[in-house]
Amino acid sequence: MTVRSSTGSYEIVFDTPDSALREIPQGAYVITDENVWAAVEPWRDRIERANCLVLPPGEQSKSIETYERCVRWLAEHRASRRSPVVALGGGVIGDLAGFAAATYMRGVPLLQIPTTLLAQVDSSVGGKVGIDLPDGKNLVGAFYPPTKVLVASGFLATLPRRELINGAAEVWKYGFIMDNALVEALEAEPIESADVEPIIRRCIELKARVVEEDEHETTGLRAILNFGHTVGHAIEKVQGYVGLKHGEAIAIGMVAEAWLSRRLGLCEESVAERVAGGLAKQGLPTAKPERVTIDALVEAMRRDKKADREGLAFSLLTGPGACKLVQNVPERDVIEVLSRCWA
Ligand code: ADP
Ligand code: ZN
Repeated sequence: MTVRSSTGSYEIVFDTPDSALREIPQGAYVITDENVWAAVEPWRDRIERANCLVLPPGEQSKSIETYERCVRWLAEHRASRRSPVVALGGGVIGDLAGFAAATYMRGVPLLQIPTTLLAQVDSSVGGKVGIDLPDGKNLVGAFYPPTKVLVASGFLATLPRRELINGAAEVWKYGFIMDNALVEALEAEPIESADVEPIIRRCIELKARVVEEDEHETTGLRAILNFGHTVGHAIEKVQGYVGLKHGEAIAIGMVAEAWLSRRLGLCEESVAERVAGGLAKQGLPTAKPERVTIDALVEAMRRDKKADREGLAFSLLTGPGACKLVQNVPERDVIEVLSRCWA
């Protein structure tokens, strides 16, 4: 599959872990984390031909300090302008190593090898890379399309179940906003690690279509991918990014935003019911954590960078497998829906 971008097209290749890792060029610079390093043990010899930097796992690694460690490691190991950086891992490694690749010597080739479901269906495609600041997530970053993405669903065999379900939230999201047939397939058979490849392919196709049309998020089209994220990000923020994982928070957000869509008369009640039912069946949470108050959520949403001065903005459902971006949603409607749908 080819994805067009402003700096040229890149290929997304579906592969086995073995052949994906074989594609790592000799002398490449592989950035990964300890869990992934353990998971790729059977194919270690394919990677060890390259230079490897193995970092601690977790969101904490998306920091200025770890970013500094990456670029200084590249400099110390004499990486040149043509040396490929390989991001081998989940979304954290993809964003961090991607940002290092985007900025070291003003940009070196970037090979993405995503190893979580979330990274395979979402973060490895579309060219967003970046790191966090103490002041907020993803505050420093770039649009930097990879040179290639190698997707091997075989990597998911070692992924902890909670991480798999976490990624499944984004998969359901693509169905809800763009592809009712995908929702029907998931309703019949929620995600398990077996046979997930056709689903991953479908999600990447859907995302690629959107980011090709609105790569730099200027027309509002790319913002439809934020279904569930206005409320989801607020939940993550209020919780201080501990507790719920991203996919879990956006699952709760999708349920709330589906009911908001209903309240604004954009879709039938059955559409919102299917969102809640499907996510629950997948084993995802659908109600907010008890300690998070609606006041705190609304306050966090107001500060959301997408809200600007124009009131709250949401990607809302307009039918099964359809959505649109809605700006200036009255806070009163949001508060009422939130108090009701989690009552
Ligand atoms: P995400 O991909 O959800 O954005 P992370 O990059 O933090 O987030 O990955 C989630 C967790 O899964 C991390 O602890 C990471 O080390 C671990 N992980 C990633 N890929 C694999 C894999 N294939 N097998 C086992 N653990 C993995
Ligand atoms: Zn997301």
